[in-house]
Amino acid sequence: MNMRAGVLLRYLWAFPATAVGLALAAIACLLGATARVHNGVLEVAGGLLARAASALPRFKHVLALTLGHVVLGISHELLDHERPHEHAHVRQYERWGLLLFPLYLASSIVQFLRGGHPYRDNRFERQAFAAAATEKESPRLTARAHDTEKKRHDIELQKAKGGYRPPPIARPANHRNP
Ligand SMILES: [Zn+2]
Repeated sequence: MNMRAGVLLRYLWAFPATAVGLALAAIACLLGATARVHNGVLEVAGGLLARAASALPRFKHVLALTLGHVVLGISHELLDHERPHEHAHVRQYERWGLLLFPLYLASSIVQFLRGGHPYRDNRFERQAFAAAATEKESPRLTARAHDTEKKRHDIELQKAKGGYRPPPIARPANHRNP
């Protein structure tokens, strides 16, 4: 199968869920939300619906919702931050289509009956959190490895010059004096 046909099939398979997302997105946009496209996913945020959702303390933890190739969020800033997590849900819709609704619900019920948390322990959430952690970690790890390598090089250079002194004990970045 060529790549274009594969992409088209994924969009078609996820479309029933996307249609629900588009209906909500249309209402949100009528109420002042704005839409952007990132990696083939429509991201809608802001407006009256977002303000209403963030005003409800009980639903405060629902900051973003993915429905097929549509992500609805409280703000675009939040969606920028949550993109790896929400786009992992998009991949799940591409795989499971509309079946994701009952499968997601079933996973929450199973976890709840087992004494787990219906959201945090849900297998689709765990998958999305893991995908986001991998994506967020990888550039940071590369940067850290580069840092360590540079430090080692600097120390060797100073030792060679005979002027190396061990650095003072580093405090954690979040350390605050009382
Ligand atoms: Zn999630």
